[in-house]
Amino acid sequence: GMAIDVRGVTYQYGRIQALRGLTFSIGQGAKVVLMGPNGAGKSTLISLLNGLEQPATGEVSVFGERMTRENALLLRQRIGVVYQDPDDQIFSTTVEEDVAFGPRNLGLDEQMVQDRVTEALRAVGMSELRSRSPFELSYGQKRRVAIAGVLAMRPEVVILDEPMAFLDPKSRDDLQALLERMHESGLTLIVATHDVDFAAEWATDVIVLKDGRLLASGSTELLFDD
Ligand code: ADP
Ligand code: ADP
Repeated sequence: GMAIDVRGVTYQYGRIQALRGLTFSIGQGAKVVLMGPNGAGKSTLISLLNGLEQPATGEVSVFGERMTRENALLLRQRIGVVYQDPDDQIFSTTVEEDVAFGPRNLGLDEQMVQDRVTEALRAVGMSELRSRSPFELSYGQKRRVAIAGVLAMRPEVVILDEPMAFLDPKSRDDLQALLERMHESGLTLIVATHDVDFAAEWATDVIVLKDGRLLASGSTELLFDD
């Protein structure tokens, strides 16, 4: 089945046309890269997929259910977003409190919250640092805390905006391995990136935007045929 269906979606900021009739689908279990130059509409599209904004025309469906203002909050639990800058996503005084924030907001009892925190920190390899202040961590570690916070919500789709940005080569390799494990655990992944090598190596499918339109989409093999 399809994880995401985008049908004829347009969006504007005042008079700026950010998305101009986008149509594409993402299958469950896909590893998708979202590419395109700055201003192409990637961030806007991510806001729509996350239900933070509603399209002006067209529709976004998640697992076959059309997203509306009314159900956006519920559907958003199924689609986690890891923003480009982890400092936008990290608020608490300890790593474990930060990761606990989402599940606690769901109203889960404390034991379930702690189980989720433990599981998510283990998944990102941050178990040892759970009592630390996130503000003392390296950029790569902060990014992993942000990912743990999203995983603790047990989403089905995770969207990551430029997750490789500002990481050293070792941290990039670690992150790519983490993405691979997330995929193996059953997640559908969408990664916004400018990194063509990563796209060719990692993705099953590619979506390329330009000026708010779909410039190209399809399987990585077809698009990076060499
Ligand atoms: P990308 O993420 O690919 O760089 P964006 O979605 O950020 O693209 O931007 C798409 C278009 O919408 C660009 O022309 C950008 O300048 C414009 N835009 C994005 N955010 C805003 C905003 N908050 N207000 C006005 N224009 C915006
Ligand atoms: P990204 O690197 O993810 O594409 P951008 O640099 O395009 O992000 O945008 C960073 C932030 O600035 C986003 O929140 C976006 O909505 C906002 N933004 C982008 N273009 C404009 C614009 N023309 N006017 C106002 N805000 C904008």
